[in-house]
Amino acid sequence: MDVGACRMRFAEVAVDAPTGSGRTFSYAIPDGMDARPGHLVQAPFGARMLPGIVFALSDVPQVAETKDITAVLFDDTLLDDTRLRLAEWISEYYMCSLFDAAAPMLPPGGRVRPKTSLALVNADTDADALTPLQKRVVEYIAKRDAAGRVAAQERLVKALGDSAAASVASLVSKGIVIRDYSISKPSMRHKRSTSVSLSADKAADIDAWLNSKQRAPKRRALLERLRRGGGAMDAAAARKEYGSGAVRALLDKCWLATQPTTVDRDPLDGRVFERAEPLRLTDRQAAIAADIRAAIEGGSDGRKSFVIQGITGSGKTEVYLDAVAECLRMGRRAIALVPEIALTYQTIERFAARFAGRIAVLHSGLTDGERFDQWWKIRRGEYDIVIGSRSAVMAPVPNLGLIVIDEEHEWTYKQHDAMPRYHARDVALRLSDLTGALVVMGSASPDVVTYFGGLRRRHSLHLLTERFADTGGDGTNAKRAALPSVSVVDMRRELRESNSDMFSRALRSALDERLASGSQAMLFLNRRGTAAFYQCYSCGYSLKCRRCDVSVTYHAKIKRFICHYCGYGRKPPDMCPQCLNYRMRYYGIGTEAVADEVALRYPDVGVLRWDRDIAASPKAHEALLRRFRSGEARVLVGTQMIAKGLHFPEVTLVGVVSADIGLSIPDYRAGERAFQLLYQVAGRAGRGKREGKVIIQTFQPHNYAIQAAAAQDYQAFYTREMAYRREQANPPYSRLIRLLYAHTNQARCEGEALRLAGLLREQQAAWGYSDVEVLGPTPAYPMRLRGRYRWHIVLRGADPRALLDKVDAPRDWSVDVDPVALT
Ligand code: ADP
Ligand code: ZN
Repeated sequence: MDVGACRMRFAEVAVDAPTGSGRTFSYAIPDGMDARPGHLVQAPFGARMLPGIVFALSDVPQVAETKDITAVLFDDTLLDDTRLRLAEWISEYYMCSLFDAAAPMLPPGGRVRPKTSLALVNADTDADALTPLQKRVVEYIAKRDAAGRVAAQERLVKALGDSAAASVASLVSKGIVIRDYSISKPSMRHKRSTSVSLSADKAADIDAWLNSKQRAPKRRALLERLRRGGGAMDAAAARKEYGSGAVRALLDKCWLATQPTTVDRDPLDGRVFERAEPLRLTDRQAAIAADIRAAIEGGSDGRKSFVIQGITGSGKTEVYLDAVAECLRMGRRAIALVPEIALTYQTIERFAARFAGRIAVLHSGLTDGERFDQWWKIRRGEYDIVIGSRSAVMAPVPNLGLIVIDEEHEWTYKQHDAMPRYHARDVALRLSDLTGALVVMGSASPDVVTYFGGLRRRHSLHLLTERFADTGGDGTNAKRAALPSVSVVDMRRELRESNSDMFSRALRSALDERLASGSQAMLFLNRRGTAAFYQCYSCGYSLKCRRCDVSVTYHAKIKRFICHYCGYGRKPPDMCPQCLNYRMRYYGIGTEAVADEVALRYPDVGVLRWDRDIAASPKAHEALLRRFRSGEARVLVGTQMIAKGLHFPEVTLVGVVSADIGLSIPDYRAGERAFQLLYQVAGRAGRGKREGKVIIQTFQPHNYAIQAAAAQDYQAFYTREMAYRREQANPPYSRLIRLLYAHTNQARCEGEALRLAGLLREQQAAWGYSDVEVLGPTPAYPMRLRGRYRWHIVLRGADPRALLDKVDAPRDWSVDVDPVALT
């Protein structure tokens, strides 16, 4: 066959530049280069050299004149056909460049940076002919050159400002400077090492020596270890353990040989998980599991997504495990998403106990090296299950059969601060369309949009309404546990009846009683720190962050105010910066204050605090978890981190110190968020033998979200929430796109926001899009963040995208399709 004749000569490449969504550019593939779809390549773009991903091959380029692809950066293709199609969808739907859409699917370190190096060719130029900035550019390059360094344009622009790029361009056109483009090599590699092993042809000598009376205990120990342990070990480890002298001596005698090896950096390395057998499912669980099995086998009504609404402790995880087992039996692989690895460590343990050795984990807590190694092993199909947070949905799992999304309602599934602004659930559903994989979503309080989809039969909807009690046995004697009894305490009334304490009388007496009887308790408050405000009671001034338009929070342990938005910290001023009186006072409380109060009242029980100040790393989480489980401390005070999936059978009391935080932020989802949190928190109580008790303290006892959480009634919440959604035409009765603009100058920011809103309204009138609303522009919350003012516009309607497409989506605006928050 004449291969040359049918070879496609052009490639459609998505380059790493802010292009419109879905855009590729045509390049010629030079003779002898093997460039295929999914390859990461390097190609000239404008005056630069950029990384790009090949999306397709063709015989006919989009334009008459094409440039050549310069290089293929990884020999392997990095994206398979499924992921290329997925990237196209993400790019189109979330309105970002194709490269940005595909970037989360690349191996760690795969997103390489372009580099432009500059050199002077004509050193003795007539300096008078240059502008001052051009002179500085020439000086910069000369100085780097004198120091034996390369002058990179990217660094030069950082040092001299954006306008330096134009100066470089004109120096190039004058022939004074030349540019050279390159791409920094992919930074991550497989970790190489050397191992030592016994030389087979010296076996007889070694035996003789070991049987002799020779001393040299280190050499002896190393040889015996190698004989016992399969014959090889890492050379560095051998030197460390037996001394480099011993290793060298044996190598010199040729009794040991060295081999190059690849070290696998495995995050679960050294972890031992107790093996667990499947539990006998209850009839309800078994019925759901059977439906899921049928769907995995392809013999169902065709719906490829399941929603399980099951109260906490009702056995959803057990159903997921059964689904995974079925998926593996069918010879396919699974992804399980959890909202945040550190907080859901118990879930990983349960997967690992059932599927030991077949699990990869992917999350941001891993080192780059671990992530790199896991990525390649996943892609080679060496793991059957990938557990991870949001971005694990992009893992290169071959032959995917199932995606489990635990705690489906969690907001961390949406990436909101960087492109692509994707929702892992929607990406999973799309992936399901592309691969036929089943999606199983579970939550005690599903996102109302998901639940609505279930009721409308977009997903197959199932309920689990009974809760298991952990009686400490092997599960065979599990009995039904009662839901905790929940009471709401009106803190206004406490104040009226002269209790201005942070604990109501009800919470105090419950703590007294439960702690006296040896139980554990959790206290929940969704704010870190000691005091929420620092306010002057003379003029009302309240201390704000210098860079953000929010109050700063006091942290007594470090005696500083910290901005929870940007991390900026400062010492407390004694004097009011506004009226110059010495009348500054602390108001409001945080977890630190609650923990101090508990320690004061109950000096002997032991208090642990669990929030982002204390537990920044996954290791710190695990340590806290162990300490609380061991009973060393009997009260756990924490933020929303303690609301998530934790299972402590000895906790019989949960106190919500204040349910009000976040309830009045200007966002249509504030009520849903409050409900989900309170419902989850309440679910931490009474997971063991003894009945649980929950006390919710609030200044808004009649708020529907608080009431529904207190009644532990998801359906009641859903009904009320959906009535509001319908009334206000919010999702699922509409779609939203949020446009955000930020600028250091307030007037410019507002001006630009008004300009775009005006343009949108013009287009709306011109095209008659009466079913799309243009809301705003209004200042976002907080109005200033990290020194930049923020204004936003929200488009709401059945198809807000249609209107947005009529204006040139401006590059310096951030576009968030299906935003999870409007703050
Ligand atoms: P969820 O994921 O809904 O919170 P879990 O799957 O964690 O619920 O189950 C809660 C508890 O009930 C766990 O301790 C689990 O071992 C137990 N459990 C679940 N299903 C069964 C079953 N069929 N038989 C006995 N115990 C069960
Ligand atoms: Zn700040």
